[in-house]
Amino acid sequence: MEMDDRLITSTFTNEDEDIENSLRPRHLCDYVGQEKAKENLEVFIQAAKMREEPLDHILLYGPPGLGKTTLASIISNEMGVNIRVTSGPAIERPGDLAAIISNLNTNDILFIDEIHRLSRSVEEILYPAMEDFVIDIVYGKGVSAKTVRVALPKFTLIGATTRAGMLSSPLRDRFGYISRLEMYTKEELSSIVERSASILNIPIEKDGAEEIAMRSRGTPRIANRLLKRVRDYAQIKGDGIITKKLADTALDMMEVDKLGLDNIDRRILTTIIKNFAGGPVGLETIAASIGEESNTVEDVCEPYLLQIGFINRTPRGRCATKLAYDYMGIPFEEK
Ligand code: ADP
Repeated sequence: MEMDDRLITSTFTNEDEDIENSLRPRHLCDYVGQEKAKENLEVFIQAAKMREEPLDHILLYGPPGLGKTTLASIISNEMGVNIRVTSGPAIERPGDLAAIISNLNTNDILFIDEIHRLSRSVEEILYPAMEDFVIDIVYGKGVSAKTVRVALPKFTLIGATTRAGMLSSPLRDRFGYISRLEMYTKEELSSIVERSASILNIPIEKDGAEEIAMRSRGTPRIANRLLKRVRDYAQIKGDGIITKKLADTALDMMEVDKLGLDNIDRRILTTIIKNFAGGPVGLETIAASIGEESNTVEDVCEPYLLQIGFINRTPRGRCATKLAYDYMGIPFEEK
C-alpha cells in the first residue's frame, strides 16, 4: 500500500486542505487538550501584549497531525499579528529567508514547519536574526566580498518539527520556549470529533464519536479524516447518522483496527516478532523488510506504537513487548 493511500496517515494530504482550514480552531479556548502548553502560552501572550513586544521564539515538536500549525496560527490570532507560513525545505538560500523576514511587520510571526530540514547556510543566518534581529548579507566573492548588516523588524519565530533531536543545539538554544505536544486522550479526541461533526453538519451519537476517537492514534488529523470516511459510509449504507455500530463496521471495513493500527503497523509488529525474534532490530532494517520509507516508520508509525507500549526503543534497536505479542496472538517467551 502506498503511503498516500493510507487512511491513518497523519501527514498532510490534498484532501485534508479545505476541510482542515474549516476545522482549525482559531482561539486557544477552542484548542482541545495540551493543557500545559496552553497554560504557559496564555501567560507568555498576555505578558508580551502588555509589554508591546514580540513573543519569544517558540519551538513546537511532536508527531505530524498533533496541532503544531494550528497552535501557531492561534498564537498569531491571540497576539493580533500576521503569520507567514513556510517550511524548512522551501527556504533554499539564505537570501530567501532574508527576503521573507524583511517583509514582516513588527511583532509578526514567522512559522517554519519542518525546521530540522533547513540547510546549514540558512540556519546560520537565522542565529543573528533570532537573537539581535539583524541579518548579515555577503555581497561578492573571495577577497572583494563585503558583508552588510541589515536590521530586521522584531519578529517571533515559531518552529515546528517532528524530531527535536535533529535540530542543532545552537538553533535549539535560541528558542525561549520549547513545547512537546502530547498525543491526545480518547476523551479529547472524542470532543474534537464532536466539534468537527457539528461544524460539518454530520449527525453523530456520543458513542459513535468515541469509537472514532479510539481508533485515531491520539492524533486529531486522523480523527477528522476517519470522521469524514465514516460519514460517507453512514450516508451510503446507513441512514446518515453515525452510531457506534456504524462507526465500528465502517472502520473495520477500512482495516483500521480497535487500536487504530493498520496494515503497516501490523506488518511492523509481525516483522519484529517473526523475522527478528522480537528484536532488538534497527529501524532501517524494519523499514526495508516491509518496503516502507524509514521516515514514515519513524515519524508516523513508531510514535504511536511506543505510546501504546507495543514497542520499546533500546540502544540496539526496537523490541516488541509482551503487549504486542498478546495483541498479535503470538505466544511470548521470556528471553
Ligand atoms: P501539525 O502541524 O502538527 O501536523 P495541524 O496543526 O495541521 O497539525 O493539525 C491537523 C488538524 O487537526 C487541524 O486542521 C485541526 O483541525 C485538528 N487539530 C489539531 N489540534 C487540535 C486541537 N488541539 N483541537 C482541535 N482540533 C485540532
